[in-house]
Amino acid sequence: TLLGIAFLFLALVIVFSRWMSRQAMIPIRKAYERQQQFVADASHELRTPISVLLASIETLDMEDGSSDSSFRDWVFEGIKEEVHRMNRLASDLLLLARSDTGEVLIHNAWFDLADTAAQTVGRLNLLAEVQQVELKLNAPSVLRICLDQEKIIQLIVIFLENAIKYTLPGGIVTLTITYKTGSLKDTLLIEVYDTGVGIPEEELPRIFERFYRPDKSRSRQVGGHGLGLAIAKQIVEAYAGTINVESKPGVGSLFKAELPIVPLPM
Ligand code: ADP
Repeated sequence: TLLGIAFLFLALVIVFSRWMSRQAMIPIRKAYERQQQFVADASHELRTPISVLLASIETLDMEDGSSDSSFRDWVFEGIKEEVHRMNRLASDLLLLARSDTGEVLIHNAWFDLADTAAQTVGRLNLLAEVQQVELKLNAPSVLRICLDQEKIIQLIVIFLENAIKYTLPGGIVTLTITYKTGSLKDTLLIEVYDTGVGIPEEELPRIFERFYRPDKSRSRQVGGHGLGLAIAKQIVEAYAGTINVESKPGVGSLFKAELPIVPLPM
């Protein structure tokens, strides 16, 4: 019987250790599946501009000079647009792939965020005008801060471009920048509020996922790849901050990024 008990014990140990190693494999398998899905989605996203490019080039190739120049200009415009899309996609993918390997390089330096925010809003004014959306800025007159200026601009642009894209003519988009001082750490709050189409509640948890777009056909019309918010999240997380959204269909959305700031000597 002693041998029997020892045997049973051994069998139990083997079963338990197998179960443990299977449990340990779950996150690895999930990460692998996520990576595979990412590659599949990226390839799929690349196929669309490539097929549009091929079709455009074939059209120009078959063209015997009889069609008027406005037709050729139109085809060329389409080619340019798709090349821009691919270019944007390539740099977005590179950024996400880098952050997967822990390589989001942050280059912190002092700059005036109030000034940067005003310039960024100025840069997006044209897009807002085309969409007939009013763009407003609420920020302190000067805000010296030590962060990665390029990354912060990228974050603001992602929020603002989305807000403009998903707001109907006559709507308002407001960028608010607030700096809060705390006893242990300070907090920088970047908020973009829009009076746009809003996001259904059931979609909210998923919109920060890579390539996720609730309405793919409409979203393609407005030009994104579904990577913007995933990149915004990556940037905020590189600073150990939080990102979230509140939204109501037909009323509007509020995107919020909160970055902890460890006060540094100027
Ligand atoms: P993209 O805009 O390229 O599709 P994003 O990752 O930036 O990708 O956004 C994901 C999705 O979240 C968008 O497709 C859109 O449906 C939704 N979304 C983002 N911002 C807004 C907004 N301000 N108002 C309404 N919907 C939004």
